[in-house]
Amino acid sequence: MATKKAKDSKEKAPEKKNAWLGYSEKVKKDVFKLNEGYKKFISECKTERECVIETVRMAEAQGYVDLNQVIAENKTLKAGDKVYFNNMGKALALFLIGSEPLEKGMKILGAHVDSPRIDLKQVPLYEDTDMALLDTHYYGGIKKYQWVTLPLALHGVVVKKDGTVVDVCIGEKADDPVVGITDLLIHLSAKQMGKKASEVIEGEDLNILIGSMPLDGEEKDAVKANILKMLKDTYDIEADDFLSAEIEAVPAGAARDFGLDRSMVMGYGHDDRVCAYTSAVALFELKKTDRTAVCLLVDKEEIGSVGATGMQSVFFENAVAEVMDRMGDYSELKVRRALANSHMLSSDVSAAFDPNYPGVNERKNTAYFGKGLVFNKYTGSRGKSGSNDANPEYIAKLRAALEAHKVPFQTAELGRVDEGGGGTIAYIMAKYNMQVIDSGVPVLNMHAPWEIVSKSDVYEAKQGYVAFLKEL
Ligand code: MN
Ligand code: MN
Repeated sequence: MATKKAKDSKEKAPEKKNAWLGYSEKVKKDVFKLNEGYKKFISECKTERECVIETVRMAEAQGYVDLNQVIAENKTLKAGDKVYFNNMGKALALFLIGSEPLEKGMKILGAHVDSPRIDLKQVPLYEDTDMALLDTHYYGGIKKYQWVTLPLALHGVVVKKDGTVVDVCIGEKADDPVVGITDLLIHLSAKQMGKKASEVIEGEDLNILIGSMPLDGEEKDAVKANILKMLKDTYDIEADDFLSAEIEAVPAGAARDFGLDRSMVMGYGHDDRVCAYTSAVALFELKKTDRTAVCLLVDKEEIGSVGATGMQSVFFENAVAEVMDRMGDYSELKVRRALANSHMLSSDVSAAFDPNYPGVNERKNTAYFGKGLVFNKYTGSRGKSGSNDANPEYIAKLRAALEAHKVPFQTAELGRVDEGGGGTIAYIMAKYNMQVIDSGVPVLNMHAPWEIVSKSDVYEAKQGYVAFLKEL
């Protein structure tokens, strides 16, 4: 596998100044302040639904109103108006209406709010040897061995037959219990330790231990019966209600400062909430705009952007049509023009260079902590397959925009050629014939329960998004 040294001298890290070196005391304060808000956001928002609820709350505080309400009240939209479209509580589009007609195109900041996790199955609960467990199916690409022996929290909703939505969040308060997935003791792991890493923990063995106390007077499956009684007493839900539920097991606990110098944040779900939060904050900083500015937060990216709340759904196109209609200028052709004339930053996390594993990256074309917002001209794998591959004409505009605002940025690809790869939502937006590029924040431990970002990169991403909204 990886060698510890750069392959040869052509692979030297580019001479880019570390962003921290340029900060005045005031800017440093701003960097830490933004990250305090971000830490709070990812500590409280661990599902796509929670991200949408919180972003709507933030947006309403900034004067954004529900597009459906605008439609219901037959109101019109004009320059300076702020609206949001909430798609099933799991995806969100925020619009700051510009002075130009919508058909001139939009400036779109896009990111995803779903993160890798462990989902409960539809029939999850069972008992084995006086222990109650929940059966799961993991969501997104994970190294399964990283998700055992950790305190996990359960977040989500249970929808009862009468339509009542019961919110569940267990494991985040200091006195909440946590749950988790056990692993074999080292003493008996001779066979397990000989297995390939992808098989050390099998997907079907990701079972969450949730109880061990039998219900008094119950003969059979008494531990499970006790759990069901507790669920009935606390949430008024029955075993069958799991059939219509979305419960996600995620790492329990808050995001924290990382490093003795507090220069980094360790948290769950940086991928891609670090881009979602900074995109929304950047939009809120914009008070007026020529072309309509948009922040688009989508679901299901980690499993291929499928489903009604994923980027492949037409919900965004529909929302643009509704906004145009409210602006009194709707036609199908104009909706097409609005999309085709748009510029977008498809923001998603990038792999940060890790000194422990230098061999998977080519140093000149790699993202580093502290070097700012990352642009990936292309992602994909095996000869750029599945990637968007942004146009140089567009990249030149972005370079000029960021330099005009003195925002540090870097360029990278996801690993060495043929080392692996990944995808984002960029190629889906490119189908509308708009200019789009992948950009984002470098992350260490990507897709692990606890990921790490640099606070300066979080700040520079936000600064870069502001520059994009102002200059494009
Ligand atoms: Mn992502
Ligand atoms: Mn991801």
